[in-house]
Amino acid sequence: MTAEQTSLPREPGAPVPAIQVRGLHKHYGRHEVLQGIDFQVDAGQVVCVIGPSGSGKSTLLRCVNRLEEPTSGEILIEGIDICDRRTDLDDIRSRIGMVFQQFNLFPHLSVLKNLTLAQRNVRRRSKDEAVEIARQTLAKVGLSDKESAYPAHLSGGQQQRVAIARALSMNPDMMLFDEPTSALDPELVGDVLAVMKELAQEGMTMMVVTHEMGFAREVGDHLVFMDGGVVVEEGRPADVLSHPQHERTQSFLSKVL
Ligand code: ADP
Ligand code: MG
Repeated sequence: MTAEQTSLPREPGAPVPAIQVRGLHKHYGRHEVLQGIDFQVDAGQVVCVIGPSGSGKSTLLRCVNRLEEPTSGEILIEGIDICDRRTDLDDIRSRIGMVFQQFNLFPHLSVLKNLTLAQRNVRRRSKDEAVEIARQTLAKVGLSDKESAYPAHLSGGQQQRVAIARALSMNPDMMLFDEPTSALDPELVGDVLAVMKELAQEGMTMMVVTHEMGFAREVGDHLVFMDGGVVVEEGRPADVLSHPQHERTQSFLSKVL
């Protein structure tokens, strides 16, 4: 299905947004975790999402690549409605790289194998091609010397950079990060943020749930503050962080800044 076939109107010739979310609701039983979320990420944009624990940030990210099924609402990835039964979810997911707080590397596989497995199985690349791309992405995250190591022998920061490299080696159109530095010792956070910053500067479309306000301010094009399953406030990161308009934003920022 192409963008033209979806129900959302858009200007002729306007670029298709990378991610469009309209009226997204998600219930777990009677608990309404997302209560009508609207937002958009344009191609090449970095959107940071902040908010207190339990506000629905992870649920939102998981809906965007359909790890969770929305209760209602619309999610378009590059103009394609991912809730449409006819949509090929494997194709959509292959366009989206995801990085989690807990790295989720395969512990029994070497770094190189972690990076080649999905390339071989999903992208159907030859072994040689997969290894070459794996080596390129490992170099990008500064871990060329670790290709034979096993995850348990790496620091948390190195593991997270491997997880980023693994996602990148699939050549995604966009990357979703769910608190990628929250499980790291403070001295390891900077290396991971530096990799993400470089990725942003290369033009990668990124949606980043984070508590790193410095990163949001410096790298983010747009900042979304969520609380209680709704977007309370959004705007340019410097504006939201320095001049929050809503009392809930002010209260949250006063605790974390
Ligand atoms: P955040 O990432 O902002 O901390 P989450 O999206 O993880 O928030 O969770 C939002 C709310 O949804 C929380 O109250 C959480 O307990 C609830 N929740 C998340 N996942 C599930 C689930 N699979 N089943 C039931 N409740 C869930
Ligand atoms: Mg979360």
